[in-house]
Amino acid sequence: MPRHYCIDIGGSFVRLAVGDGQTLNQIAERPTPVGNLTDFLDGVTETVLAGGMHASDRLGISITGSIDASNGTVQAAHLPFLTEIDLAANLENALGQFFGEPMRHSIIIQNDADCFAQAEARFGAGKDRDNVFAIIIGTGIGGAQVYRNRLIRGFGGAAGEWGHGPFVQKQDPSLQGHLPQIACSCGQTGCINTVGGARGLEAIHLFHNHQTLDSRQIVDGWISGDKACRRSISSYISIVSDALAVALNITGAEIVPVGGGMSSAGKLLEALNGAVQQKVLLPRPDPLLVRGKLGEDGGLWGIYARMLAESSEP
Ligand SMILES: [Zn+2]
Repeated sequence: MPRHYCIDIGGSFVRLAVGDGQTLNQIAERPTPVGNLTDFLDGVTETVLAGGMHASDRLGISITGSIDASNGTVQAAHLPFLTEIDLAANLENALGQFFGEPMRHSIIIQNDADCFAQAEARFGAGKDRDNVFAIIIGTGIGGAQVYRNRLIRGFGGAAGEWGHGPFVQKQDPSLQGHLPQIACSCGQTGCINTVGGARGLEAIHLFHNHQTLDSRQIVDGWISGDKACRRSISSYISIVSDALAVALNITGAEIVPVGGGMSSAGKLLEALNGAVQQKVLLPRPDPLLVRGKLGEDGGLWGIYARMLAESSEP
């Protein structure tokens, strides 16, 4: 039976694990080779070969960045040279040369946010649930839906991106709930992505209070009763829960594992969960928003979950 080799390529480290269909064991960790394309391909190839991979084994890669399914290129801020090549094809070629025969299974590549969703659905907070909508609340907002351990990709692979679309409406600035309309990286203005992550919370706070604080300071101030921070968090929870409730009515998800830096703010997650439960059509009996369980291992477990799902296909 082929073994499942899983690589997580992050900003700082490349980590390798191998799964046998049951467990997943991490076997190597090396600094990410960021110098140039040749160093990168050599470094990844050597890591896999040192881990004992054969031509008959499967290889899956989780990577921080966005993958263009049409040509296999990867947009990753820390690895700019990956925009020039089809990463899977290049690695298959390099490994095939070493093995002296072509690899028997195609290399699978998936971004870390989708991996997080599949990891939490199969092994983490969404284990034993059919319909899981996993979200990232980090510097910005992301999300992905997994149904019965399969990622819902949708047109162009963009399903689940609840952070985009003009949601923050133009309002009379004299209204209490007025929020800034901020241009988003997607080209729209007023996306939840512009107000729902750490940078968004900071923008809300600056807008309401003319004060620059980082997201952690705003959350801490809210917990200790600071009036300005309470106003910012109130705005934040109001708008983010609006969008999330709509997303949950559409997806019908049973649970929402949350990842990203802001998922560690337990009280904020609790408050957001309370607001969402009040707005969804059918409040769930158990907490909807729960912190993801796999933490920094989400990339490895997620690509493993995808390979298991695909290798069990007829
Ligand atoms: Zn957007």
